[in-house]
Amino acid sequence: MTDTSLAPTGRTTPAAARDLAVEMIDVNKWYGDFHVLKAIDLEVKKGEKIVICGPSGSGKSTMIRCINRLEEHQAGRIIVDGIELTEDLKRIDEIRRDVGMVFQHFNLFPHLTILENCTLAPIWVKKLPKREADEIAMHYLRRVRIPEQANKYPGQLSGGQQQRVAIARSLCMSPKIMLFDEPTSALDPEMVKEVLDTMVGLANEGMTMLVVTHEMGFARQVADRVIFMDAGQIIESNEPNAFFANPQHERTKLFLSQIL
Ligand code: ADP
Ligand code: MG
Repeated sequence: MTDTSLAPTGRTTPAAARDLAVEMIDVNKWYGDFHVLKAIDLEVKKGEKIVICGPSGSGKSTMIRCINRLEEHQAGRIIVDGIELTEDLKRIDEIRRDVGMVFQHFNLFPHLTILENCTLAPIWVKKLPKREADEIAMHYLRRVRIPEQANKYPGQLSGGQQQRVAIARSLCMSPKIMLFDEPTSALDPEMVKEVLDTMVGLANEGMTMLVVTHEMGFARQVADRVIFMDAGQIIESNEPNAFFANPQHERTKLFLSQIL
């Protein structure tokens, strides 16, 4: 083995060769003096579904926002689909195209129709002709089962419908990875299921997903792994049955006792 085959971390195999969608190596981030992410190591395989839970303020949003560079990390390495996140802006655009994100508050453009919300990025970022972008958008609106809402405005839809539009809008960019940040926590209880059902469908089709949620039924149903974060660290990571039946750390036990 020659030294030149070694990555700076001492790893010998590039992420792409190991079929990793996301690799975080000793990632640290600060907001001013506040150390928000502490030595995060995370490997996400292509097609893997990961549920991330943990108390409010533990760094869950910050961690997944680093994956599409909505936040910058200050130390360590983040490699997404074989591309390392650095200052190189051109490649950041590539990452943003490949990584879809769905937020707690749907973030639809209120002055655009549902269809226009879905075609905006495909037309302006991917430079697709409008007709093609419309076709793709209608395809995904059918998939989230609201094609009849295409010409309405977000304010005319229920929260659950708006969140399904947000998912369809992301899918219109053909992402390889989908990030979800508490996608159901702003919804009325009767709308949670329709959004979770859409996400389960996506999971079953093989999408790589990182989902911050406290919906533990969803975690049991689709997660390959559940990760528990506290105070900027990954405290525990396990497949769902073991995670719920036999949590290893006191902080995980305490957290689960509060939410289950
Ligand atoms: P979680 O999603 O687990 O609730 P966050 O990642 O949103 O946690 O936040 C982690 C910590 O970082 C919190 O203490 C929060 O107040 C702080 N924080 C989040 N965003 C910022 C910011 N832009 N500037 C300063 N502090 C922030
Ligand atoms: Mg959060």
